[in-house]
Amino acid sequence: MPENILVGVAWPYPNGSLHLGQIAGAYLPPDIFARYHRVAGNRVLMVSGSDQFGTPITVRAEQEGRTPQEVVDGFHAEYLDCWERLGISWDLYTATGTQNHIETAQEIFSKLLEQGDLYTEWMELTYCVQEGRFLPDRYVEGTCPHCGFDGARGDQCDNCGKTLDPTELINPRCKFDGSTPERRPSEHFFLRLSAYNDRLTEWMTNDKEHWRAHVLGFARGILAEGLHDRAITRDLEWGVPIPVEGYESKRIYVWFENVVGYLSAAKEWAQLNGTPEAWRDFWEDPAAKVYYFIGKDNLWFHTLSWPAQCLMFGNLNLPYDVPANQYVNFGGWKASTSRGTAPFLPIYLERYDADTLRYYLAATMPENNDSEFSDAELVRRNNEELVSTWGNLVNRVLTMTYRNFDQRVPDPGTLKTSDEALLALGKTSLVAVGESIAACKFKEGLRQAFTYAQEVNRYLNQEEPWKTRETDKASAGRSLYTAIGAIEALKLMIYPYLPFSSQKLHGMLGHRDEIGAQGWEATLPVPGTALEEPAPLFKKLDVPEGAV
Ligand SMILES: [Zn+2]
Ligand SMILES: [Zn+2]
Repeated sequence: MPENILVGVAWPYPNGSLHLGQIAGAYLPPDIFARYHRVAGNRVLMVSGSDQFGTPITVRAEQEGRTPQEVVDGFHAEYLDCWERLGISWDLYTATGTQNHIETAQEIFSKLLEQGDLYTEWMELTYCVQEGRFLPDRYVEGTCPHCGFDGARGDQCDNCGKTLDPTELINPRCKFDGSTPERRPSEHFFLRLSAYNDRLTEWMTNDKEHWRAHVLGFARGILAEGLHDRAITRDLEWGVPIPVEGYESKRIYVWFENVVGYLSAAKEWAQLNGTPEAWRDFWEDPAAKVYYFIGKDNLWFHTLSWPAQCLMFGNLNLPYDVPANQYVNFGGWKASTSRGTAPFLPIYLERYDADTLRYYLAATMPENNDSEFSDAELVRRNNEELVSTWGNLVNRVLTMTYRNFDQRVPDPGTLKTSDEALLALGKTSLVAVGESIAACKFKEGLRQAFTYAQEVNRYLNQEEPWKTRETDKASAGRSLYTAIGAIEALKLMIYPYLPFSSQKLHGMLGHRDEIGAQGWEATLPVPGTALEEPAPLFKKLDVPEGAV
């Protein structure tokens, strides 16, 4: 029975180029996951989009003397190009500026207000006297009251991950002019999170064995302390308008509305597909599974506030899993667009093939600990693992077969026990890799696939078809046939990780359809199938000049 799986992926602020920390943390994992599930026959809806109303956008616009929309449009176009080149297989990548999203966010706002989950209250906000305006949270910086980190922003501390109000910062200062902001009163809408602490705690207690320990620890820790109501509107011009008269100078704050994007994007996808009600299969059918792929700085929103919003709105599926990743460090620091210290994706897509980048990022994914990015490590892993274990295996087997067996899959005659054992191991390895991917253990899945590739190399070294092709051609044909059968299974195991080279290999093996069209199942090669002339899948690399 095929499952309906919603793959929600963090919405990036289009305020700078994407970097490899974001890719390894939030974008490559869901792509591997979605590609596997599609081949396995499940119905996947993978959505995200550009989070265009964040203050990171207005910060950049003000720095460059452009309008926020100009900043958004430029980077949104760049992101679409990057997704294509990196092979991120969205069902829809949209933006929060669409009329559909704005209306969906306002609909939730209105319903929550009507039923009392939103209420108004006057609050003290930070106001910059020099500029004569209220400061967005991110425009205020200072010392974190929880961990003492000095570069904390008014919305969140990047060091300890806690969400903040700007008024909690010690020694607050305006990001633009360094002046000490004043506090002034302003009326805002508050989300009654405190009323949902018990229901969230109950939800967070049951059936969470498959969740990552650091994700559960974070969410349960905050629930144990108790959620507080939080303001969800701000004195801003750039944002989703509040659908209530008298609040024209204020906007819905980004953390309340950007997560609504998972719902609005599903609706947009359904509309574009000509099946306007199809979003309900993912959001309202309790059998559907909802996943959120994010970095750990987004945990609060995806494990607490957005689930609370879903409970308040009613009849919307809560997350089945939030497999958040840790950070990728770069030269000893957390890679960050707004800090300008990051390995930016467009540069790396020029430097390396997409599958080489995907291999390295998947093999070093920060699933449970921070990881460190380096070009030297990327080159080493490309040469020692991707090229020598996998690329050379394929090249050896296909070239030898192509040259000695009329460019066709040989007839194996009767298989030996060791041949059958290798093929059987391919079947079980394929199942194991699929299970790892489905459990969001992506590094483990890749490791299992490469362990099998090593096994195939060992088999070939025992069989030595490069010798037997002179002395016992039938034996060479049998072992090459077996190796091609193993490569058929490996091709599929590796496909979610390395889609470009796997599709190319699929063609070299004589198939004319899309890889994966037969499902997540190893099929034996058919003797006599015409092969394409083999070409190397990957190339050896040198560490580029100026790389880290
Ligand atoms: Zn200021
Ligand atoms: Zn802190």
